[in-house]
Amino acid sequence: MQDYHIHSSFSGDSDMSMDDACKKAINLKIKEIAFTDHIDLYWPGPIKFEIIDLNQYVSTIKSFQEKYQDELTIKIGVELGIQPHSSDETKNLIAKTELDYIIASIHCVDCMDICEEKFFNQKTSYQAYIRYFEEVLHMVESFEPFSVLGHIDVIRRYYPNPMERNINYRDFAEILDNIFISLIRKNKGIEINTSGFRYGLESFLPSLDFLKRYRQLGGEIVTIGSDAHTSDFVGCKLDQAIDMIRESGFKYLTSFNKMEPSFIKI
Ligand SMILES: [Zn+2]
Ligand SMILES: [Zn+2]
Repeated sequence: MQDYHIHSSFSGDSDMSMDDACKKAINLKIKEIAFTDHIDLYWPGPIKFEIIDLNQYVSTIKSFQEKYQDELTIKIGVELGIQPHSSDETKNLIAKTELDYIIASIHCVDCMDICEEKFFNQKTSYQAYIRYFEEVLHMVESFEPFSVLGHIDVIRRYYPNPMERNINYRDFAEILDNIFISLIRKNKGIEINTSGFRYGLESFLPSLDFLKRYRQLGGEIVTIGSDAHTSDFVGCKLDQAIDMIRESGFKYLTSFNKMEPSFIKI
């Protein structure tokens, strides 16, 4: 069992200590976790989503690797939030850091935070979702390096009208197929982000129909992450995520070590 998406106090929006996250994971008998703190340059708001000192970040994680070496495998990861004008700088920023795992996510579109209602103004839900998926596709096609695409359909978590937060794959099939095909061609994967439920959605990010299609197109690399920012959510609903992954036809989860994937039977 793995939780490959955990934020700590190195992220601008979390106060969780790494120690608390490790203890919670050990309590839940999770074998492997990855810290994936935010690096999101040019964030259009007051919070700074930047790891100020990457060396200190890595050395802190290494100290917990040592402290819990008999109980827990801890990976050094980051969650990169990419915008077209931040991709080169982000790449240079992490170039000298020895990371195990990188989630690449889209949190901002057209210089707007997609959590904010402003992004959805004067757009139908379809237009808003398509605009977000266009940005995901652009990032997947143009950005390196990363291991998995983060929460592919996170946009629906923020749609102002809760009635329009569930979407069908078939309504966006063309652009979503292109995202999956591009990921597969580049030997990248997707994550099952279990945070959907705590935002009132009826499924994970993404849902079963997305995952089945990814598998059908030849997708092999899949990880699971809670996206926990507090210790209550570390390890949230991992069992259900494994069930969904099996139901979609996967026989393996993916682990990463120094950016190299390896497969664990489930
Ligand atoms: Zn994210
Ligand atoms: Zn996250």
